[in-house]
Amino acid sequence: MRQTTASTCCYCGVGCGVLIEHDETRIFDVGGDPDHPANFGRLCSKGSTLHLTGDIDARALHPELRLSKQLGRTRTDWNNALEHAAGIFAETIRENGPDSVAFYLSGQLLTEDYYAFNKLARALVGTNNIDSNSRLCMSSAVVGYKRNLGADAPPCSYEDIEQSDCVLIAGSNMAYAHPVLFRRLEEAKARRPEMMVIVIDPRRTDTAELADLHLAIRPGTDVALFHGLLHILLRDDQIDQAFIEAHTQGFDALQALASEYTPAIVAELCGIRVAALQRCARMIGTAPSFLSLWCMGLNQSTSGSAKNSALINLHLATGQIGRAGAGPFSLTGQPNAMGGRETGSLSNLLPGHREAGNPQHRAEVAEYWGVEQLPANAGLSAIELFEAVRNGKIKALWIACTNPAQSLPNQQEVHQALAACPFVVVQEAFFTTETCRYADLLLPAASWGEKEGTVTNSERRISHVRRAIAAPGEARPDWAIACDFAQRLEQRLQPGRPSLFAFNDPEALFEEYKPLTRHRDLDYSGLSYRLLDERGPQQWPFPGHHSTGTIRLYGDGVFPTADGRARFITEAFQAPKEDYDARFPLILNTGRLRDQWHGMSRTGTAARLFGHVEEAVLGLHPDDMRARQLLDGQLVKVGSRRGSLILPVQRDESLQHGHAFLPMHWGDRFLKGLGINILTQASFDPLSKQPELKQAGIQVEPVALPWEFFALVEGQLQHRFEALRPLFEGFEFASFSLAGRDRAALVIRAASGSAPDAEPLMAIDRLLNLADGPVLAYDDTHRSVGKRVRLENGRITALRLAGETAACQWLKGLWLDGEVDPDLRRWLLAPLSTPPHGKRVDNDRTLCNCMNVSQSAICAGIAQGLDLSGLKQELGCGTSCGSCVPEIRRLLAQVTVPVSV
Ligand code: SF4
Repeated sequence: MRQTTASTCCYCGVGCGVLIEHDETRIFDVGGDPDHPANFGRLCSKGSTLHLTGDIDARALHPELRLSKQLGRTRTDWNNALEHAAGIFAETIRENGPDSVAFYLSGQLLTEDYYAFNKLARALVGTNNIDSNSRLCMSSAVVGYKRNLGADAPPCSYEDIEQSDCVLIAGSNMAYAHPVLFRRLEEAKARRPEMMVIVIDPRRTDTAELADLHLAIRPGTDVALFHGLLHILLRDDQIDQAFIEAHTQGFDALQALASEYTPAIVAELCGIRVAALQRCARMIGTAPSFLSLWCMGLNQSTSGSAKNSALINLHLATGQIGRAGAGPFSLTGQPNAMGGRETGSLSNLLPGHREAGNPQHRAEVAEYWGVEQLPANAGLSAIELFEAVRNGKIKALWIACTNPAQSLPNQQEVHQALAACPFVVVQEAFFTTETCRYADLLLPAASWGEKEGTVTNSERRISHVRRAIAAPGEARPDWAIACDFAQRLEQRLQPGRPSLFAFNDPEALFEEYKPLTRHRDLDYSGLSYRLLDERGPQQWPFPGHHSTGTIRLYGDGVFPTADGRARFITEAFQAPKEDYDARFPLILNTGRLRDQWHGMSRTGTAARLFGHVEEAVLGLHPDDMRARQLLDGQLVKVGSRRGSLILPVQRDESLQHGHAFLPMHWGDRFLKGLGINILTQASFDPLSKQPELKQAGIQVEPVALPWEFFALVEGQLQHRFEALRPLFEGFEFASFSLAGRDRAALVIRAASGSAPDAEPLMAIDRLLNLADGPVLAYDDTHRSVGKRVRLENGRITALRLAGETAACQWLKGLWLDGEVDPDLRRWLLAPLSTPPHGKRVDNDRTLCNCMNVSQSAICAGIAQGLDLSGLKQELGCGTSCGSCVPEIRRLLAQVTVPVSV
């Protein structure tokens, strides 16, 4: 029977509520939950297509074990799998000590999952080697909040974004990364045009389009900028002396430092005009309320902690905190990175916002758990942890719900580490991730819609995540896998003792965990699943005696420090680790796309989500393209100090001269060459240990790969992908994507210096369904050129071009339209490579994913004189999630004729 279950989106930290339509077996549709206070019914393009993702063919369905690195994995059962894992972990711990094993988790786990893993690592194994991919995402914000304000607690609420008079967005393309929140900001600004929006970003992103002031600073110079703003605020007497005296300490030292950051020096360092700096300071200094939002641009940096603190300093100096529309407000990357921070899922933390390095905190948690003590050794953070795996110190590694073989920087070394580790367990919903290749034991995990628990979003709001359908195959919830393994390990390490892991359901874990928050800054001991069901999602703190959550913190000016005062942090600007030099003359920035999420393990299964951007493309400023004589779409070799890869290049006018941009989502699965992070660096911030993923020196040069390949095939996409992917190892360039909407296809683009041998090409043809049957073929062996198209029931179901690919977009368009062009047969059976005269040669992107409206249709509408509301009315574009509206506005400003013919 068809029914609806309220749950949350599993992607970003906005934490939107979703309504899942299902019949307890299959999910049919997803809508926004109008009652959820994060989104009030809205969803972005990713959230609204959740039901189209998670292809069953990509799911891990059964435990798989390999007994030797030389062998493949074979199917096993849960009992055998977990007994084997417990045996190896127990033996490794006995022989090499507890710090020879490690757990690497994910910001996408639920709070209950985190709690189980934390208890397992710290109370049972006795190691602090438990970290998560939140280290790559939010750990600098954690340090910033703790150092300045005394606790890792974002003080604001989403409603503050709507109420603020001046919103500063630093290092965040919020329009792509947190779209629903950005829509709330856009609408608030439309209602109150006097609201000022400042965007600080080296790129002119969709977010910057909304700004009254865009400061395109030199990458990594944020600390200098914030000190420079303070300098001007001090000079113009726009600080709140009374607040500073009553509620803070350390201002004198900061004031002395800020005096050195004169407007002229800062403008020079940041690469902006003095007047722009002055204007920014004036906007902040005169605003009745000032709010700042930030994300990876500040956090993923070797001075990420200093950047966070320098920004929070501005709020303390102006008294802009603890009031409606005011405060520092980090945008959390992952759906439950906050829950991870709350439960202690970074190596230096313990549950309830405690510190692993604090003996009293360790004693409190040890007593609560009924164990003698917790480990005092410092645990390894993500980068250190994988280095320890690589040099053999970690001998058994448990990875849950994350894909380090795509997401960590310096991928060459990460792959070496995973290959060298004696025992790797990967607990994953998708067997297709890059990391699964290295799993000695693959444990199938339940995924979105299939598990229950809680998550905390960016505004401290806890939602009850509800299960809609059963997990497929033998997949189990993450908490259940952790507890089952822990009980088996207990029998080996502490036989005869009562189990610490006798939890029957996630609610039992939540109930055990929540008292650990009591009397802490985040106290949510008053919450329960029942209360969340009755009253909806709630913001912490929510102690037992409260009847509602807490909208904003520090309204009384009292901070959770020993003396109740906030701290100013005084740190000078430090240049990023890698800057321009003669060998690497470009600075690479990495970031998010609108329709993809992280390593694409889920979004990469939905063809529709490739409609906006279908492959990884290096963006370069037009001047840098000209200087290298590069053309749009041309293949280039991008090299950094750590490695190189080949991919297409494209003019990007949002970039400054000397800068380059790559989307962070592509790993080795979708792009041959270990993915984008082969280029990025592992240097990290000394306090937060967060790596500088957003800045690397690179060089770019054209590559001549004249033998090109293009293929498209329908049906059994994941199986074909798995089978075809290895056959492209011999090509210098290979890129894989999906295409389509009602019908979906696997699309392959590849290139090589010369034609491959006939046999690999025949093997590829067989897997493309082009070896026999209703296939039209043309081969010119002399020129190593060939074309094949499979026609079934009057339409194309597979095609490939080898040697020359000039007609690929035309043919792809024919496949998409489901038509057979009368010119097709004639073209196919003749030695023609370019499409017939007048046919499409450019790629036509889907700009509006919700309403399936292409860029060419929008451009045609603009050419007919339609404005934004006319386009919305005529084409429907921009009327659903609204993510495409900034891009449509840009086209309205630029385009007068359709881009394709
Ligand atoms: Fe999901 Fe989009 Fe909401 Fe983020 S903004 S939680 S990705 S629907």
